[in-house]
Order: sequence, then C-alpha cells, then structure tokens
Amino acid sequence: MEEWGSPQFVAEQFQRWYAQNSHTIPAPVEIESREFGFLTFHGRNMYRHIKLPTQAELQRYLRQNAPAHSYYSSSYYEDPTAEMARKGWRGADLVFDLDADHFDLPCQREHDKWVCRNCGKQGTGHPPELCECGKAQFQTETWLCERCLQAAKHETQKLLDILIQDFGVHQEELTTNFSGNRGFHVHVHSDTVKTLDQHARREIVDYIMATGLEAEYQGFSQRNKGAKPALAEGGWRGRTTRALYDYLSVVTEERLKEIKVSPKAVQAIMGERPKILRLLMERHPSNVTPTIDPKSLQLIVDDAAKLQAAEIDTVVTTDIHRLIRLPNTLHGKTGWQVQTVPYGELPDYDPLSSAVTIRGPSVKVEFREAPRMRIGDVWFGPYSEENAELPLEAALFYLCKKGARLA
Ligand SMILES: [Zn+2]
Ligand SMILES: [Zn+2]
Repeated sequence: MEEWGSPQFVAEQFQRWYAQNSHTIPAPVEIESREFGFLTFHGRNMYRHIKLPTQAELQRYLRQNAPAHSYYSSSYYEDPTAEMARKGWRGADLVFDLDADHFDLPCQREHDKWVCRNCGKQGTGHPPELCECGKAQFQTETWLCERCLQAAKHETQKLLDILIQDFGVHQEELTTNFSGNRGFHVHVHSDTVKTLDQHARREIVDYIMATGLEAEYQGFSQRNKGAKPALAEGGWRGRTTRALYDYLSVVTEERLKEIKVSPKAVQAIMGERPKILRLLMERHPSNVTPTIDPKSLQLIVDDAAKLQAAEIDTVVTTDIHRLIRLPNTLHGKTGWQVQTVPYGELPDYDPLSSAVTIRGPSVKVEFREAPRMRIGDVWFGPYSEENAELPLEAALFYLCKKGARLA
C-alpha cells in the first residue's frame, strides 16, 4: 500500500519540473555570500550551510537534487559554509513573512484540524497553547482557501504601503514573493537596512504592528485643540485618524461594548456618529476628545489601528540568521511555485492559477479527507474516503498536502 502523500511520485514530478525549468531560476543578489538549505522528500533533516557561489551551480544543484523545499539566507556571510558562530555576518536583507498561519480567520475552523499527540483530543482551527491534558504536542493538518490567500494579500499590501510611505523604501528595493503555500514574503534589499541589528529590526516590527501606539501622542489630546486636521498626515498620525474614521463608520454597539468602551462613549458614538466622523474629517482629531473619554478613545484606537497595522511574523523579521524560501523554486507542501509578484500586480495576482506550474494528464488517487479547492478555473472536492481521477495539477496538490495517495 502506498504511503499517504505518495512522496516518491511527488519527488518524480519535482525532478521532471526542475530538469526542464531550473535554468529559469535566478541567483539571489550576492549569491556567493549566501547560505543555502534544502529539505528532501525523504527524511526530516535539513541540508544546510551550503554555498553555491554561482547561478550555474545553484541551477545544477536544483536539477540534480530536485528538493522538496529550498531556502537561502537573508544574511550575507564571509563564509556561508562555516558553523553559525564562525560564519562572519556581514548584514542581512530586511525580510517580512505574512502567513495565514499567524492570522486568526474564521475559515481556518472549516479547513484546519489538530490532534493532541498525548491524549488524542481533537479540534478545528489553531491548536490551543496547552491541551486540557497539560501537554503542547499537537499534530496539525492545515489547508488553505481563497479567503486565507486574500487575507495574506491584504496584509502584504498594508505592509508595502507602510514601507513605501513611512520608511521611504523605493519600489526597486522591494521584492514580494508568494510563499508557495499560505502567504507572502517581502524582502527589502538596500545598503540602509543591511547592517541593522536585531534591536533595530524589532523597532521596525513594532512600528509596523502599531505596538504601543498611544492615542494621546497621535493628536488625540485636549492640548492640541485648534491644530490642523490630521487625516492626510504621514506616518501613524494620519493613519490613526484614517483608521479611526473607517472604524467609527462601521463599528457596532456590540463591538464597542466587547472592547470595554465606557457606556457614555458608546452612547455618544451611536448617537452622534455623523458628527464625530465630520469632526475627524474636517478638524483636528483632538476635537473628538470631549465626546469620547481618553480611556475609551485609547481602546478604540487600539482596535482600529489593528486594521491598519500589518500582521507580520515578528520572529522572521528580527532573526538575522534566517533561512527563507528561494524564489521560483517549488514548495513541497503544495507542489506550487514560490513566485515573485511584480510591484503593482499584487491585487490581481492569483496564486491558484499562476503558481500551479506542474500540470499534466489525469492520475488516479485515493482520498482520506480533503476539502474543496480551486486549481486554475476548476473546482475539486471535497473528498472523503473515496477514489477519484484528477488532472495532475490537482492530484499533486492533494498528494503534497497528504490528503491522498496514488490509487
Ligand atoms: Zn492532550
Ligand atoms: Zn482559509
């Protein structure tokens, strides 16, 4: 009986793809200073501390090994092959990871599952921090859907806006990559960011996530009365005002009560919504402070700012020794390509069409449980303990996710 996921078959598809396409995979900037790491379809060990000093050597490696997962360091090293402490760190690109794994989305309760390895308890969505049995060892099964991908795209767009508008990053210093699974990676490569240490990167993370944003210092203070409107201002000052405007336009009474806004402020917002919005639009934001008390205003600003902040994985950005997926290679958990999305094309980018680059004639597979999925323009599934014949591009996805095996 075939193993779930039929890794041998998937590996052969990757080999065929790399034989035909490895010549199209470009070298990262300063390839000679990068560390490479790879995972195979068999075994869990990562082959790392690898140096591939030229594009030709990188392409030959990919052709010969057809890895399940390919990574390279965001860092530049004197000697990428040395052990970590002896590598000689010379700098690193600034990298952001926006992955639906880190979001809390309603759809995840429909398509993600977890099982406790210790007591066998099961659930849907994200696993809890600790199981009822006291252990935190979970086996998870994560799928993805268009809503996950849309959410990841939305967060990525917010990040790009902040990087360009607030940090003055130039479009040509930015690369946006579809991760090949549930998210996007944004790389900033410039001499300005290269030598930033972990603390500096932490500051950038806090800024982007609006951590510790205080309403009082964003213009919402009695002291500023009479100053100019802030809606069009740069940085978080303008963004907070815009966030508050968008938020107060749609927020419900239930939500305000949920975040513990004072009853008086809830009443004012519900009763005088048009007036408050007009104030935010036409006058300085401090003009809302007589209507909404400072404590409630802080709660509202926190909740509103979350909608404008980008949900980045903080560890990825602050870790300056990180390995990150190599663009244009294949992702072993989907069979899809890690793709660079040109600036401005993100809103229309459809990974479920563009990143599905291994295609072919039908394959017979046996399913355990697998959700419905669109590949290109065609919908497949859901499947439950049944056999089906699918075009290679769909079969490969379900095999990579281990929801099926060759029949
Ligand atoms: Zn348990
Ligand atoms: Zn989803």
